[in-house]
Parts: sequence; structure tokens; C-alpha cells
Amino acid sequence: MLESIFRFNNIVTVLDIILVAMVLYWFMLTFKGTRAERMLWGLAVIIVIYFVSQRVELLTLHWILSNFLGSIVIFIIVVFQQDIRKALVHMGKPFSSRDILGSREVLEEITKAASVMSKTRTGGIIVMERGIDLGDFLDVGVEVDAKLSKELLISIFNTSSPMHDGAVLVRGSRIYKAGCILPLTEKELTKSMGTRHRAAIGLAEETDAAIIVVSEETGEITLVVEDGLYVDLETEKLLADLKNLFAYKGYPRKAIFPWKAGA
Ligand code: ATP
Ligand code: MG
Repeated sequence: MLESIFRFNNIVTVLDIILVAMVLYWFMLTFKGTRAERMLWGLAVIIVIYFVSQRVELLTLHWILSNFLGSIVIFIIVVFQQDIRKALVHMGKPFSSRDILGSREVLEEITKAASVMSKTRTGGIIVMERGIDLGDFLDVGVEVDAKLSKELLISIFNTSSPMHDGAVLVRGSRIYKAGCILPLTEKELTKSMGTRHRAAIGLAEETDAAIIVVSEETGEITLVVEDGLYVDLETEKLLADLKNLFAYKGYPRKAIFPWKAGA
């Protein structure tokens, strides 16, 4: 009897270790290559110093660290608030209907505008809001609040328009703002990607927005979603990808990750 309880306990312990190892592995994979990874390493170092200071009785250091670690939950929430928000939105996506944006018509108008801009080598960024409210990220810019149309998009990005610099924010079926400044990514990118691409990637790192970039230099159309980049898209491909995205049928294929080795 005793022996079987002992054996059962052993199995539970092994199971416990396997589960913890799996959670840690998943954690490392999730944060690999992100700015959170560096912070987690920093935190790990602090925890090690905390235990060492306890062992060798460095009382003041130990006192400071134990106070710091006592408020670690608040610290983590403050530092990772954007990532937490993004993760929660991601989890709630299948249940949300708010951002089925775009009727087919809106997506078609945007695609047509991107196609004309690509042919005329007109640079631009079109940000399509999805689950996360982008109000907090794009506070600069001119409010437009007009029904979205291909013609309006093209005129905004026309180089003689005072609003052509920066990004257009599309909310629902309306052009909500123009001339918006996006946060720039700090990642290392390939040389062909200047500040316009850097801005699109920067916003995609922090939100779930779908961002279309038309290059002024090459006319290339790029779709940026979360940490994937869908480069050199043909018009039909762009429309198909957008439809999939907004119907939550998964992400488009052909993503490249320019900051990853070899890309
Ligand atoms: P392109 O392929 O069109 O040349 P690029 O990635 O090489 O794009 P730049 O040539 O540096 O980038 O593009 C500059 C333009 O990018 C600016 O005129 C401006 O319209 C836009 N831009 C730059 N920074 C931002 C920003 N933070 N937010 C929004 N738009 C920006
Ligand atoms: Mg350039």
C-alpha cells in the first residue's frame, strides 16, 4: 500500500517536472527574439543575485531585491502592458465581431488604391485597424473621418497633398485619420527598408493592425501583420490575403522576417 502511494508520488513529481519544463520551453520560444526576452534575462539575473545575497548574507542588497521582487507583478504589468494587451486581443479574436472591418468593398477599394499607387510610384502607408484601438498609438495626424474610397486614398498620398506624409488610418469603412506618425521599430532591417517600412513594422510589433506599405522607390506593395512581412504582392494576392485576414482564416503565406538570420 505504502509502496504504491510512494510510486504514485514519484509519477506526479515527474509529471510536475515535465509540465514545468514544457511551460518554460514555451515561454522561451514565445519571447525568443523579442524585447521581452532581454528583460526576462535581466529578471533571471536579479533572481539569482537575490538568492546569492541571501546565502552570503548581504543584508541590504537582499532587502532591496526582496522589496523589488515583492512588487514584480506590478512591474511586469507596466513593462509588458502592450504585449499583454496584444495577447488578450489575440485570444479574444475568434469571438469578436468589431473588426470584421471591411466589407469586401472596403478591401477592394484599398487594394485598387494600392495598385494605382504602386504603378505611379506613390509612397504611402495604409493602416487598417483590427482588434486593438489605435487611438493610443497614432495621436498625431489630421482627422478626416470620411467614407473610404480609392480616389480619396490616392489624393491623400499625392505628393502635392499636405497630408501625404505619414500614414492613413482606416477604421471600419472610413478613413479616420491621415498624416499619422507611427512608432519606428528598432530591429535591424535589410537596407532596402527605410523609415516608411520601419514605421509599419514598428506599429505591427505593438498592435494587431494590418498595414500596407507602397514603396515610392520600387512601387512594391508590402503587407505587414504582427511580425510577418508579405513582400512584393501582386494586387490579386493582396486582396486575397486581406480577405483571409479579416475573416480570420489565418495569416497569408509567404511571410519573411527580415530581422531573422539569413533573411
Ligand atoms: P520607400 O520604399 O517608399 O522609399 P522607405 O522605407 O525607403 O520607403 P523612406 O524613403 O525613408 O522609407 O520614406 C520616407 C517617408 O516615410 C516619409 O516621407 C514619410 O512619409 C514616411 N515616414 C517616415 N517615418 C514615418 C513614421 N514614423 N510614421 C509614418 N510615416 C513615416
Ligand atoms: Mg526610401
